[in-house]
Order: sequence, then structure tokens, then C-alpha cells
Amino acid sequence: TKDDVKGFFRRNAFVIFTVAAVIIGIIMGFALRPYKMSYREVKFFSFPGELLMRMLQMLVLPLLVSSLITGMAALDSRASGKMGMRAVVYYTTTTVIAVFIGIVMVLIIHPGKGSKDEFTKQQKIEQVSPADAFLDLIRNMFPPNLVDACTKQHRTQYGKRVIHVKVTVNDTLYALNGSQDITQEEVIPVLGSVDGVNALGLVVFSMCFGLIIGNMREQGQPLKDFFDCLNEAIMRLVAIIMWYAPIGILFLIAGKIVEMEDISVMGGQLGMYTVTVICGLLIHAIFVLPTLYFVITRKNPFVFIAGLLQALITALGTSSSSATLPITFKCLEENNKVDKRVTRFVLPVGATINMDGTALYEALAAIFIAQVNDYDLNFGQILTISITATAASIGAAGIPQAGLVTMVIVLTSVGLPTDDITLIIAVDWFLDRLRTTTNVLGDSIGAGIVEHLSRHELQNKDAEMGNSVVEE
Ligand code: ASP
Repeated sequence: TKDDVKGFFRRNAFVIFTVAAVIIGIIMGFALRPYKMSYREVKFFSFPGELLMRMLQMLVLPLLVSSLITGMAALDSRASGKMGMRAVVYYTTTTVIAVFIGIVMVLIIHPGKGSKDEFTKQQKIEQVSPADAFLDLIRNMFPPNLVDACTKQHRTQYGKRVIHVKVTVNDTLYALNGSQDITQEEVIPVLGSVDGVNALGLVVFSMCFGLIIGNMREQGQPLKDFFDCLNEAIMRLVAIIMWYAPIGILFLIAGKIVEMEDISVMGGQLGMYTVTVICGLLIHAIFVLPTLYFVITRKNPFVFIAGLLQALITALGTSSSSATLPITFKCLEENNKVDKRVTRFVLPVGATINMDGTALYEALAAIFIAQVNDYDLNFGQILTISITATAASIGAAGIPQAGLVTMVIVLTSVGLPTDDITLIIAVDWFLDRLRTTTNVLGDSIGAGIVEHLSRHELQNKDAEMGNSVVEE
């Protein structure tokens, strides 16, 4: 009946708007391409999209901190310890599977066949040892200054070096984040945007802080209430931004299509490489993760994924899992009814360290670069690549093309030329969107699985709370 139709539209308004935004964005992008807008014009055109990115990023910091602190404080240390263990096992398992898929795909399809001549040669990058990069990862966990951690990541050896990378592909100067048309002087500021907040450091701090507040019981109550209230207020802001999201996504997508390079660069090895990455990500996202969800929870994974649609599309539009975090929260809590104690704990950590798509991508890309260089990798080297790809995905911030920067660790670990990162830069903006979507899906399915496995602790806690209310 008419009421049913109305009800359907009302319930699914966000999803309908968002899907429509993607479709209109694509059509508009291709329709405007023939006009060959200048870099400045594209920037003007995609301004509504840039605004969405900024709004979302604005909320990430308070959201991350408040949700982790309240999430940890809501559980006793035994329950959060168990939940944490489950999350870690899930993150590790899925990341290892993702790396494995990436390696198998690239070895089977072998996209790097042929010679390197079709690529332009780039400037030299100095070498960096994986140990330096690894120490940087640990350093970032312990920011010496919390205020600083809210504005930048700690970067020593490899960070400082990468940030100066500029490259030319087909005579176009790029910064490592893939923006085109920049002059020599502009390279460094543009690359500065690769720096995000030090999410890893904030996660470690907030978790410890929340745990302590939880253990302090009555004494910790004021702080608990404060962060609870902060979290609730931020989520209400998210609800407002969600109305703007479709417009932002429309312009992000249209703007990117307008400015993207000619599809002809996709020919040959680079085209095969793109196909290989897409296949790997699809296998992981459409087969592995849903199967895992079904086997553990016995619930329909695709119903769960349907509830996440808006978050997945936002990930596709923004290519940032941390900017998507607010929307992921909304989708999981409101559409999929995942317990808040789980999402608050699992999502921020997941968005920071669990990146299946990035891990798959880094392993695959490193082996592709080896293939292009006619460099035969032995089993030990492939193992090294798997380990460093995992570390690199943990270290990558949830911001656009962070994975490309942390790739340096993977390449240097087996002695591959780091300047060959530039071989794949032309398609990275696109593959980045797909791996970000996979990352967000992995985090969300993780929340669903951890909730299912932790249902007894959650029920016990509910019973305990219920009792204490009665006693009062
Ligand atoms: N853009 C990705 C993310 O935000 C990270 C990456 O570059 O792989 O999840």
C-alpha cells in the first residue's frame, strides 16, 4: 500500500540518498570530464566534498577518545580483557588471511610480466631499515605529549624521508598522496596532509585511561559520566552530518572522476595489477569475511552488510576509514543493533590497527614490484613480505593513501627499490577507495563477531547492573 511504500522510504532514506548520490556523482563526473577543468576549477567543484571530509574528521578525535574511554570503563577488567583478546584474535586472523589472498592472487595472475620500460623512471629515495620503521610504530603508541598526539604523528627516520617524496609519472609531477599538478615548492605542504592525528597513541592512552576509570568505581564516576555525555553529544552531531553526507559524497566522487587521469594509463601491466587487486579485495570482502561471520554467529552476513551500506559508501567516497568512523558507529548501533559496549571498544581500535584491505594490498603490490623488476622472491622473502605487510597495515593511519607511504617498510625489508612505489601511484587513488571499504567492512564484521562471542559477559554485566539498581 501507499503507507508501506512511504514507510520503506522513510526507513531507508539515508541509504537511498547515498546510493543516489554515488550514481549521480558518477554520471556528473563523466559528463563534465570533456570540459577538462583546471586543477583550481576541480578544487572549487569538489568543495562540498572537501567540507564533508573536514566535518567527519572534526569529530573523529573526540569520538575516538570518548568512545574508547566509556567503552573500557563500562566493563570490568576481566570482561574487557576477554573481549580484547577476541578482537585481537579476529584482527590477526583476518589480516593474515588477507595477506595470504593478496600473495596467492599476485602469484597466480602474475600482473608484472613484461618489462619495466613502459614506466617512467623516478627520483631516488634513500633506503630505510625495517627496524627503524618498526620502532616508529612502537614510538607512536606512546606519545610524549598528548596534545601533540592530537595533531600529528611521531615521525623520525622513515617518516621524514617519505614526506619529501615527489615523483613524475608520464611527465606529471605527483606528491606521494597522488595529487597532480603541483610545483616543486608545493610538494611538501601537500604531503603534509598525509600526517593524521596519532590515532595509535590516543587509542593506547584512552584504553588504559578507561580501564583505570572503570576500576576506580564510585570515585571514577564523574569522569565516566563526563565521557559518556561527550560521546552521546558527538553522536548527535554525527546524526546531523549524516544528512549532509550524500551531498558531500556526490561531489567527492564527481570531483575525482573529473580530475582522474586518462583511463589509457590503465593498459598493460598496470591494468592487470588493478584487476588483481580488485579480485583479491572482492574475495576477501564478499567471500571470506561473510563466511567467517556466518560460521561464528549463524546469522545472515548479507543482512548485516546491508545495514552497513552507508558506511561502506562513505569509505568509498572519502578513502579514509577514520573519517568514516562516525558513520560506521551509527550504522552498527542503529541498523545492526550491535551492543554499544562492543562498538565503542572494538571500532576505534579496529579503524586504527585492523586494515585487511591495506595488508592485502601491500603484500600484493610489493610482489608486483618484484615481478616488474624480474626479481625472483624465495619463500623466506615472501614470508618477510607477509610480516612487514601486516606491520605496515597496522602502522598506516586511516587516511587517504596512507598505505602507499607505509609500503616503504615492505619494500625495503626485501631490498626492493622504494622508488618503484611510483609505478603504481597512478591507480592508487582508486585502489585506495576499495581497500578502505574493505577495511571498514572488516572492522564492522569484527564488531558483530566479538559481540556474539562476548554475549555471556555482556549478559552477566547486565544482570549485575540490574541487581545493583534493585539494591539501591
Ligand atoms: N586509506 C586507507 C584507510 O583509511 C588506508 C590505506 O591507505 O590503505 O583505511
